[in-house]
Amino acid sequence: MSRAVVVGGGTAGWFAALTLRRMFAPRVEVRVIESPDIGIVGVGEGGLLNLVEALHRCGIDLDEFVRETGAAFKLGFSYEGWRTGAEDDRYYHLFGRPGLPETDWIERGFYPLFSGMVHEGIGLHHYIPGFAEIASNATQQETAAMLRQGPGSGLSASFHFDSHKLADYLRRVAVSRGVVHQQARVDELVCDEQRMARSLRLDGGEIVGLDLLIDASGLARLGIGKKLGVRWNSFSKHLLLDRAVPFHMPHPQPNPSLVTRAIAMPSGWMWQIPLVERVGAGYVFSSAHTDETQVIDEIHRRIGPDVEPMRTLRFEPGHFEQVWVGNIMAIGLASGFVEPLEATSIGQMLEQLRNFERIVTASNGVVSGFLIEGFNEANARCWSGIRDFLRMHYDCPRRDTAFWRDVGALPLPASYAELRQCFQQRTPRLVDVQDYAIHGWQSIFHVINWLFVAAPLGVVPPEAATAELASLPAVSRRRVATRMAELRRSSVLA
Ligand SMILES: Cc1cc2nc3c(=O)[nH]c(=O)nc-3n(C[C@H](O)[C@H](O)[C@H](O)COP(=O)(O)OP(=O)(O)OC[C@H]3O[C@@H](n4cnc5c(N)ncnc54)[C@H](O)[C@@H]3O)c2cc1C
Repeated sequence: MSRAVVVGGGTAGWFAALTLRRMFAPRVEVRVIESPDIGIVGVGEGGLLNLVEALHRCGIDLDEFVRETGAAFKLGFSYEGWRTGAEDDRYYHLFGRPGLPETDWIERGFYPLFSGMVHEGIGLHHYIPGFAEIASNATQQETAAMLRQGPGSGLSASFHFDSHKLADYLRRVAVSRGVVHQQARVDELVCDEQRMARSLRLDGGEIVGLDLLIDASGLARLGIGKKLGVRWNSFSKHLLLDRAVPFHMPHPQPNPSLVTRAIAMPSGWMWQIPLVERVGAGYVFSSAHTDETQVIDEIHRRIGPDVEPMRTLRFEPGHFEQVWVGNIMAIGLASGFVEPLEATSIGQMLEQLRNFERIVTASNGVVSGFLIEGFNEANARCWSGIRDFLRMHYDCPRRDTAFWRDVGALPLPASYAELRQCFQQRTPRLVDVQDYAIHGWQSIFHVINWLFVAAPLGVVPPEAATAELASLPAVSRRRVATRMAELRRSSVLA
């Protein structure tokens, strides 16, 4: 092998280049070809916890990353208006951290203290000591000090970041490590009869030969999509949103919020991702229920008349059934996308890359078709988990507009329908979600993440916890009761 080419210089392309550079010997050229005329999508600005792991794997210093990308701490999500739509209708999905009794005590397969909270209707965020910083809109310095306390804070952190600055920063790191950067438009991907990628024809007529192609061409989807025509697995039966109008806005509070805000709107929802200098925002909506003009009007009414909307993005939720075919692998937007609820896209892309590296390295570069099949199965399974988790967010009581009525009535994917039935009778357990990650993949969401969303929406009703709590021995029941009394006192004071 002499050359691996990445098409695309967005977040996916540069993370791929850094990964390939460390996988292959220096004699193998790693080249990124990207078109500055096309540019990057420029909206994926919220990471999950595996972003931090990926930065560590890439040997990137976190302080430098924060400085160079305008990054701010992200401790989870706040869902606003998803139940009653009232001013105070808000629930949190936070990045909890092991090390507290709530997360570490499992008995008879369930988490007794979480069950206690569900039973008593106490919001799950109340068990987290570090929630005080979120509620008080703490500064970045105060948040860093809180996180340094370790497990005692109850929180893990990821980041909100400026996606243009991130691509630029990763490019500089990659080039400093020997990645070749070429600015050109790819006009054609040339494959042989076995559908193996052999070369790229660029806009000036140059032909670039290659042995491995990573297709990170974003929504252009040059490789797996356009060239190979792999089948698309659409989620539009289960998820309605298919358009987004992004924009920037100033901070509504003195300090950047420590959570991504997901604010329910009449025909979708609005994300607000707080960076150090600005908030990256957007209204993601259903084209069957509204149009760009109405959406922009709603943005102006809610945020202010000075907001300048960017170009509307169109997408169909779903993914390609195979993302790795022969010597072509698609990642990032080139491989699939669903609405940005829970910021799954970069998380999924990094898990794809981690497994690609794991398999190719363990195979010493000679990878069997059977392993590739397993990779594609695991990727699709991971997407099913994302689809089901997102579908659960719309299992919410809002019914006040046509959109909220229709989205609530969409068919449930069979796998989620089964889970939902179980959650009506008992709280979620590790075993419920373990099979969303197969063949060595890791789940993007832990069962506690599911609980954070399922409980406030009533997908796990208080009664579901009653019977399992009663099944505990007396000593455990007393422990639950003592902790609930403490939480009730502190949540009344909070
Ligand atoms: C509305 C919206 C909100 C999102 N919010 C989040 C979020 O909060 N969290 C999250 O994790 N993800 C989010 N995402 C997804 C996130 O933006 C992407 O996963 C991430 O930015 C990676 O994008 P990419 O690198 O795959 O594509 P892009 O950033 O679009 O990069 C594509 C690259 O391919 C190049 N290219 C395309 N065609 C050619 C060609 N013919 N020749 C040469 N080069 C070419 C482009 O120039 C560009 O460099 C969001 C996406 C959308 C649409």
